[in-house]
Amino acid sequence: MWETLEAVESEAVGCTKCRLAAGRTQVVWMDGNPESKLMFIGEAPGFHEDKQGRPFVGAAGKLLDQMLESIGLDRTQCTIVNILKCRPPGNRDPMPDEIESCKPYLVAQIRFINPKVIVTLGNFATRFMLEKQVSISKVRGQRFEVYGATVIPTFHPAAVLHGGGMSGPAMQGLKADFEQVRQILDEPVVQDKETELVEQQSLF
Ligand code: SF4
Repeated sequence: MWETLEAVESEAVGCTKCRLAAGRTQVVWMDGNPESKLMFIGEAPGFHEDKQGRPFVGAAGKLLDQMLESIGLDRTQCTIVNILKCRPPGNRDPMPDEIESCKPYLVAQIRFINPKVIVTLGNFATRFMLEKQVSISKVRGQRFEVYGATVIPTFHPAAVLHGGGMSGPAMQGLKADFEQVRQILDEPVVQDKETELVEQQSLF
């Protein structure tokens, strides 16, 4: 198995394990700082992400940046990844076999980065982390402990923009969830994360 995050990336950027390799411009690996304790997990690259090679660079990315700013952070203080590293055609939903093929890369990102807080953006990322067919509208804002990290599900920024925008009800939920993220980050660390990382590896 991989020894470093860089080794995972080297393999991922040339990956052809699923049908999405044929239509991509490039693999969209990650943005941000792998030393940080906050990770966002989205769904898959869209048109702009595929072209630029960075996750969350369109309108949804701008909203994510605004939300980070609202809690005193920017992209250098978190990592941003997706479940799928390649763009599905027409931005369709990820298919189960594509998620399964791409899963080892995301699991490795979580293992090596070992975040304290993981924010899942939307249904697909939330279902991936909770391993349940939950609905984001039912679980958003709740805390879950998964593999040594606190997982906070919230709405995908693109869904917020499509569902009423900045004054819609989803926006209020997104704001509240980001405030909760700030609170958790400010809480003192009470456990030995190194120990947890070892335990996680057997679970994954
Ligand atoms: S989506 Fe994931 S599994 Fe599929 S080709 Fe891209 S990197 Fe490989």
